Amino acid sequence: MGFLKNFFQKLAAPPKTHVNYFYTFGVRCKRCGEIIEGRLNLNNDLSIDYEDGANYTARKVLIGGSNLCFQQIETTFKFSGEKKLLSREIVGGEFVEEE
Ligand SMILES: [Zn+2]
Repeated sequence: MGFLKNFFQKLAAPPKTHVNYFYTFGVRCKRCGEIIEGRLNLNNDLSIDYEDGANYTARKVLIGGSNLCFQQIETTFKFSGEKKLLSREIVGGEFVEEE
């Protein structure tokens, strides 16, 4: 089984040694109720920020694609040095848990 597992991990690995890691989340627009999926690239979207005991901060503005609604939903995430999510804030909507 160990052999098979290694085999599949090799197949799934990107060509570079640095593996991309994504954090995905869902938000619901306050105005129209549309659910929008957001995605952070933990290798590119994080800024170093040592406020509030965190090591990284990421900001993302989401706008829904349907319902002719142009409400901007601003999200802010704080991550630890190991890129574990510590806290998150949202303006213009609310977070919905992924199923
Ligand atoms: Zn909306």
